[in-house]
Amino acid sequence: MYEKTKNFIHKVKTPAYVVDEGLLIKNLEILKSVREKTGAKILLAQKAFSMYSLYPRISRYLDGTTASGLYEARLGFEEMGNREVHVYAPAYRESDMQELVQICDHIVFNTPKQWKKYKDKVKQSNRNISCGIRINPGYAEVETDLYNPCIPGSRLGTPLEGLNEEELEGIDGLHFHTMCEQDADVLWRTVQIVDKKFGVYLKHMKWINFGGGHHITKEGYQMEYLEKSIRLFQEKYGLMVYLEPGEAIALNAGFLVSEILEIMENGKKIAILDTSAACHMPDVLEMPYYPMILQNNKASFKVDEEGELVYRLGAPTCLAGDVIGDYKFQQKLEEGQRLVFCDMAIYSMVKNNTFNGMPLPSIYLYTKENELKLIKEFHYEDFKKRLS
Ligand SMILES: *Cc1c(COP(=O)(O)O)cnc(C)c1O
Repeated sequence: MYEKTKNFIHKVKTPAYVVDEGLLIKNLEILKSVREKTGAKILLAQKAFSMYSLYPRISRYLDGTTASGLYEARLGFEEMGNREVHVYAPAYRESDMQELVQICDHIVFNTPKQWKKYKDKVKQSNRNISCGIRINPGYAEVETDLYNPCIPGSRLGTPLEGLNEEELEGIDGLHFHTMCEQDADVLWRTVQIVDKKFGVYLKHMKWINFGGGHHITKEGYQMEYLEKSIRLFQEKYGLMVYLEPGEAIALNAGFLVSEILEIMENGKKIAILDTSAACHMPDVLEMPYYPMILQNNKASFKVDEEGELVYRLGAPTCLAGDVIGDYKFQQKLEEGQRLVFCDMAIYSMVKNNTFNGMPLPSIYLYTKENELKLIKEFHYEDFKKRLS
């Protein structure tokens, strides 16, 4: 198990996100080795993880950041040092484009129509901006519709029928993003379709971007398929290949520490925590995603059963469905005890909110040197500031 929890579990003010620098670096080392081995470039997709106090460190391992709009692009530009800044959005606002052309190295447009609209602005910037089009290859193996960019009627990317040579004038690259938490065999099947369908356009391009959704840092990831997929485009078309993983960068590198406020019964045991699924880990309700929990450093998992040691974990909000799940523990739970939710660095801080007046969790870094550092804490004013 993860022995280090004992070094911070009682020191943090709950609820708290704790990011473990050593675990983050372990992921970054893997990604760096992919860059070195294949020559592909790898960007941090900030949508999953935007803990910018760590960007200087991350910049030693990656080529830059990617963004889904102006704010993320600015954050990458300001905090990641002199690294590449990429952006893609389904549509850009004119006033945002004005600023984006001053900070971005790559701008990916969703359609040739968006490219046409902003082509002159890009040229007038007099900066060396490389532009691309997001394609929709019409092939994805994602099972949840919420995360499938290839469902019928999808707004994400232009299908083959929407492209023509003439409108791609000035375009340097194609971008696709069709995966979600997947292994590289899926990528390999996808790139073969992209190659077959879009090859005629790739001949004139400089780069291809494979988007995110690559579970590169997960144990057992089939690296050889990733390498093969990268080589396909390097060798056949002479392209620079970009990957922009979000999740893979901070996978399993962070925790959320919560305290049990109350234990009650209503046909089953219910523990009320000082953390909320809706506010602090929205993916638990959206994905849905059920994190592993450490109790006295023993792992507990969500179960579909009743029992002495099964507790329903709920939030202190008034939303009936703000429940993390029914978990089976190794020992009885007690009021005042702390629980550690695993894999809480990604899609957590970036998605949290203060619904129902919930406090935002503090953010801590547990350093390589085994020091606990408070990076930021939030107060009543943070809640009030966003309302009027
Ligand atoms: C979400 C997203 C990513 C990162 O996806 P992960 O699943 O976190 O790896 C990369 N590129 C684009 C365009 C995205 O929308």
